[in-house]
Amino acid sequence: MHHFEYHNGELHAEDVPLSKIAAEVGTPFYCYSTATLVRHYNVFAGAFDNHAAQDKPLVCFSAKANGNQAVLTTLAREGAGIDVVSGGELARALAAGVPGERIVFSGVGKTREEMRAALEAGIYQFNVESEPELEALNDVAGSMNVKAPITIRVNPDVDAQTHEKIATGKAENKFGISWGWARDVYARAGAMDNIQIVGVDVHIGSQLTSLDPFAAAFRRVAELVQTLRDDGHTIDRLDLGGGLGIPYDELTPPHPDDYAHMVAQVVGNLGCQLIFEPGRMIAGNAGILVSDVIYVKQGENRRFAILDAAMNDLIRPSLYDAHHGIIPVKAPDSSSTYETYDLVGPVCETGDTFAKNRELPVLQSGDLVAFLSAGAYGAVMSSTYNARPLIPEVLVNGDQYAVIRPRPRIEDLIGLDRIPDWLKD
Ligand SMILES: *Cc1c(COP(=O)(O)O)cnc(C)c1O
Repeated sequence: MHHFEYHNGELHAEDVPLSKIAAEVGTPFYCYSTATLVRHYNVFAGAFDNHAAQDKPLVCFSAKANGNQAVLTTLAREGAGIDVVSGGELARALAAGVPGERIVFSGVGKTREEMRAALEAGIYQFNVESEPELEALNDVAGSMNVKAPITIRVNPDVDAQTHEKIATGKAENKFGISWGWARDVYARAGAMDNIQIVGVDVHIGSQLTSLDPFAAAFRRVAELVQTLRDDGHTIDRLDLGGGLGIPYDELTPPHPDDYAHMVAQVVGNLGCQLIFEPGRMIAGNAGILVSDVIYVKQGENRRFAILDAAMNDLIRPSLYDAHHGIIPVKAPDSSSTYETYDLVGPVCETGDTFAKNRELPVLQSGDLVAFLSAGAYGAVMSSTYNARPLIPEVLVNGDQYAVIRPRPRIEDLIGLDRIPDWLKD
């Protein structure tokens, strides 16, 4: 469910025609819908209302999916917490007005500086992923005379049945503490002066389209909670990570209501506060990427639509073989004829291919197309490869819109570099 629809023959974001935004900000650009962001957050957070066995869960939007300040602020106003994976994201969350007690810090490589900043901000918890990290955190917290609240991210060794580059819950992945060692690591954490154990954390991967891997992981975690409590630890919180998929193509991922129902069944009787870290599920379908057709080029056996967007703007197709729906901004009608295109960008890489053999109404130079489901892992993963400045981000809210990240000038990009003295004359 999203708010990008055809009205009066052309694609709108909520009440704003995309051609109007394109005329003002130029192409390519990302466009997000406030109504969709807010709706997804509330559908997810609200799904747990019927399972009132425990307190309201803390839903921490995963900033790595979309870290724009306006997006974080929109969600923070709805009551969302933020899941951060770097000091930079921590700073973003704080700048968006998210209080420390709604911030959780995940990631395998937190530095001491990042730990210090997070302790200063009074974050809710660190999700610790290794013993060396635990020792460093104990050390940093000790030097500040505070106790660091932690969960340990356990690796339940289940197959998330998703793309290998976004599966994180198998023993061979770099994430979390190996299942068989979890008890020992909790014992070590329990003996540290400046560590306060508060719960258990698990996140098995992204873009999951079935509840089964979640349920398998959560069942293991539920057993672990009992064991850890028997060992004398206080386990009050369960952070179940993110990972719920969205419909990019024909696969229909589970509805948040069904997810919440399963969660309640598997871990509802443990009396833990639940924490979730959804990213894609909130932001994915709340954003599109609008691009212009530069040329239509006839190859020997294929027809290429060469767009002004490229892999540096949206890397998911080349990185994850990801599928994005691509539709014309001008609505097709009964008189439209269709042709098959490979949609590619101008970057000098064969990998700069968004889609092959897509049927689209006949495209011409100057036509606008929209990539659907580009609100998560889109702008945040972009780069300036081929000296292409980052593209603008626009946020729509009803009939209003605002540029929430302007397009830099090429001079700004060049100006980031410095010429050493020996090259100056
Ligand atoms: C990436 C990530 C998430 C968010 O995953 P989604 O699939 O976008 O919901 C949550 N938690 C952690 C630890 C992550 O690395």
